[in-house]
Amino acid sequence: MLAIRWMIVGRHKQLRPSILSVQSPPYTSAAAIESERTIKGGPRHDWTKDEINSIYHSPILDLLYHGAQVHRHAHNFREVQQCTLLSIKTGGCTEDCSYCPQSSRYDTGVKPHRLMSKDAVLQAAQRAKEAGSTRFCMGAAWRDTVGRKTNFSHILEYVKEIRDMGMEVCCTLGMLEKQQALELKKAGLTAYNHNLDTSREYYPNVITTRSYDERLETLQHVRDAGINVCSGGIIGLGEAEEDRVGLLHTLATLPTHPESVPINALLAVKGTPLQDQKPVEIWEMIRMIATARIVMPKAMVRLSAGRVRFSMPEQALCFLAGANSIFTGEKLLTTPNNDFDVDQLMFKVLGLNPKPPSFSDDDSQALEAENCEEVASSSG
Ligand code: SF4
Repeated sequence: MLAIRWMIVGRHKQLRPSILSVQSPPYTSAAAIESERTIKGGPRHDWTKDEINSIYHSPILDLLYHGAQVHRHAHNFREVQQCTLLSIKTGGCTEDCSYCPQSSRYDTGVKPHRLMSKDAVLQAAQRAKEAGSTRFCMGAAWRDTVGRKTNFSHILEYVKEIRDMGMEVCCTLGMLEKQQALELKKAGLTAYNHNLDTSREYYPNVITTRSYDERLETLQHVRDAGINVCSGGIIGLGEAEEDRVGLLHTLATLPTHPESVPINALLAVKGTPLQDQKPVEIWEMIRMIATARIVMPKAMVRLSAGRVRFSMPEQALCFLAGANSIFTGEKLLTTPNNDFDVDQLMFKVLGLNPKPPSFSDDDSQALEAENCEEVASSSG
């Protein structure tokens, strides 16, 4: 390859070009190679940690560029889904997740509340719908739903009603058993959120009251029941980059990729063991998002907690890297979230369109059939 080098020559120290031969610089990165493979060959489930690690550590602009290419290949890049997450049962949780202000083990000032009433939940869902959300997610601060028969049956009702409003419905209620997953599916649940949080290796530093395998088991029950899996993690917990890669590796090697992968940046809350963690930088988010996009091309990659700390241009880079969903609404469970008007302005400035809800035909038909049965039996 020929290159031009500028040389200082002559009495007057003029700059003159000098043509010389130099070695070609390496211009391919793992992000370039693997994104091309993904685009040509479709999603893979046999990723090695080394492959994901190399993608993650590609030069950031290259990673961003190739994340964007995979994103455009697999999705409409202008569509961003708006989801609303409501805490329907707050605080008083027995678990010890060290990032969580809702654990009863930490003094964070979060006041425990019982399960919200049906009216209050449905009103919140209606407001979310009117504000453009197409997915309504209900969170309850529980270890699991075992022994909560009454509350669980209320939640089934909420799911059914919100689904009837034409919204996708998601729940995050802790660990789930097989039977409960089946009942949620029957009620019309679109997706169940249960994050892996971090790598298997780092996990015991974050949570001791439930195991990584228990989490994976819940995901399996959700998958077996035919509910979409929503599972991602949190960065900024004090983990190393290899733990971030480890998390993505576990998700990307599941027999079916999660339909939804939330990427959260820790919002350190006073009173939790992680209160002094330094904030995550935007470049760390971009690495996670773009890598997730390349290794799980079809998933909705959700720019989730911590978005409130990022400016509009920073969020634009996240969308470019492959994020295609955000949480809107005043709060994300108990932590602050972005202002509604500012989000609307962002959509306008960036030329983004709200993504409509999507239901599989099976789901819609099953729900309609069930509604018909109920109408028939109540009128008979
Ligand atoms: S993250 Fe969930 S399970 Fe863990 S302490 Fe918070 S509410 Fe409980």
